[in-house]
Amino acid sequence: MTQSFETLQIHAGANPDPATGARQVPIYQTTAYVFRDAEHAAKLFNLEEVGYIYSRLTNPTVAALQERVAMLEGGAGAVACSSGHAAQIMALFPLMGPGRNIVASTRLYGGTITQFSQTIKRFGWSCTFVDFDDLDAVKAAIDDDTRAVFCESIANPGGYITDIRAIADVADAAGIPLIVDNTSATPYLCRPIEHGATLVVHSLTKYLTGNGTVTGGVVVDSGKFDWSASDKFPSLSAPEPAYHGLKFHEALGPMAFTFHGIAIGLRDLGMTLNPQAAHYTLMGIETLSLRMDKHVANARTVAEWLETHDAVEAVTYAGLPSSPYYHRVDTVCPKGAGALFTIALKGGYDACVKLVDSLELFSHVANLGDARSLVIHSASTTHRQLSPEQQEAAGAAPNVVRLSIGIEAAADIIADLSQALDKASA
Ligand SMILES: *Cc1c(COP(=O)(O)O)cnc(C)c1O
Repeated sequence: MTQSFETLQIHAGANPDPATGARQVPIYQTTAYVFRDAEHAAKLFNLEEVGYIYSRLTNPTVAALQERVAMLEGGAGAVACSSGHAAQIMALFPLMGPGRNIVASTRLYGGTITQFSQTIKRFGWSCTFVDFDDLDAVKAAIDDDTRAVFCESIANPGGYITDIRAIADVADAAGIPLIVDNTSATPYLCRPIEHGATLVVHSLTKYLTGNGTVTGGVVVDSGKFDWSASDKFPSLSAPEPAYHGLKFHEALGPMAFTFHGIAIGLRDLGMTLNPQAAHYTLMGIETLSLRMDKHVANARTVAEWLETHDAVEAVTYAGLPSSPYYHRVDTVCPKGAGALFTIALKGGYDACVKLVDSLELFSHVANLGDARSLVIHSASTTHRQLSPEQQEAAGAAPNVVRLSIGIEAAADIIADLSQALDKASA
């Protein structure tokens, strides 16, 4: 990239408004856009000219956000959608069909494990979960019907960092794309495309917006995958029956996936991000680097303090030298291992519940990546639908509490944890 991340997070995708000169990206609160004439309308519907038709497909505020996230991730294009989970379906939709499968890491956000192990079956899709530290197992799990490999860069919540390059090489050798959920890291800490990922998905809900106001998601395409190299991806390489036989890859090259996401995905699945939410997220991204530096610094300070506490059995933060994944920080996320980690308490399940109930500065919520410090007992909430084995594998055992460290003063965060741990171990 020519400009630095700190400049792009403020300027990418945002030109002064052509109608008014407004410096900030306006909220284009409109459903539809007037066509110049009948020919203009026809060209827009034929994808011969790029423009706005209807806000289920495209909207100028949402488009500014898409361009900004694509540039920050080093991608060719992006499609915003209504949630992180919607982004996952939108990423898979052009690749999959009945009978097809994906191979995913066991270390994922709890909701993603449920989406992949249960809900996608309704589409005739399936998922095989594998330990992504075992490259031979990943290779062995890929079969002729596999259409994608899926992992998180920094996995939520267990303090696990994926060796993205190694997994990308396995996917590449099999001729299928690697999809990386980069929610916990953000493009400031990790840029999966530089490590060989084809697609990056985000929950905008978390650090990108950064203050717990929005539900949103985005799919970023690297533009580098050759969809026509095999007959595995007919939605992109063969005539698409849902778009009067257009061959997306042939017609649109590196923008094929992005245009398919809008022209078919948003058009027919309708998981659209609204312009108000896009505006909040654009505001959030302007300060992303500043916030992430503070999140990381606080997380490191708090994790170091917790590691020495008598009531604490273990701290799984990849930013601690004691973590088995510490050695991956320098290559995968050189600016830090994020601000999300778990602690295991010697007092087990009961102590965890007592801790959560005793914290005052921390909010007990099912969210992460907020400016505020947040806490949750994953086993009884976000990872409740999982089997004990799945909970263990995902780093959400019953004696474990997840912390999302905010950007308050580190001393105040530690003081709150200190008083609550005293109560939990009394
Ligand atoms: C929150 C989250 C999701 C789901 O995003 P929503 O916006 O809640 O749908 C997916 N992956 C990760 C890592 C998350 O933290």
